Amino acid sequence: MTIAVYPGSFDPITNGHIDIALRAARLFDQVIIGVYDTPSKNLMFNTKERVELARQSVAQITNVDVRPFTGLTVEFARQMGAQAIVRGLRAVTDFENEFEMAMMNRKLDPDCDVVCLMTNIKYSFLSSSLLKEVANLGGDIDDLVPKPVAIALRKRIPVRL
Ligand code: ADP
Repeated sequence: MTIAVYPGSFDPITNGHIDIALRAARLFDQVIIGVYDTPSKNLMFNTKERVELARQSVAQITNVDVRPFTGLTVEFARQMGAQAIVRGLRAVTDFENEFEMAMMNRKLDPDCDVVCLMTNIKYSFLSSSLLKEVANLGGDIDDLVPKPVAIALRKRIPVRL
């Protein structure tokens, strides 16, 4: 059985993340979205909330699961019995970061392979941080996130008078 982990902050999960998860789900028997507990980012949603939103958003995809994790991604991958780490690429600008991280992960675990999948062009401009900024300013985000995330964002962001 082929297993991949798809790690990230997912603060919150977007349609871009779902696009990558769906692509990975066609390549691997099982995909485990790993919600990283303590990214060095300002978070809008805590780990429990990020996991719950991701779970609700992938509920229809039978071979995609969601779990929180702490510590090294390679350790998480090992614990899950995964053969690969999946990451998403939006543009060339993502590549440098992903390459650096993949090389470090390979140093930590020589058996670790990273599979980068390219997103649908319609999500190539979408990041969780930009999404939160637009939502904070009252912009329409309905096409960019799964329904449970849109609801959670509306609840979290104070109504603008
Ligand atoms: P991280 O903090 O690890 O970058 P993110 O939640 O921001 O976590 O992203 C997780 C992964 O999903 C990364 O590989 C990122 O490049 C990818 N990703 C983020 N947004 C998109 C998108 N719109 N389309 C495709 N991949 C994306």
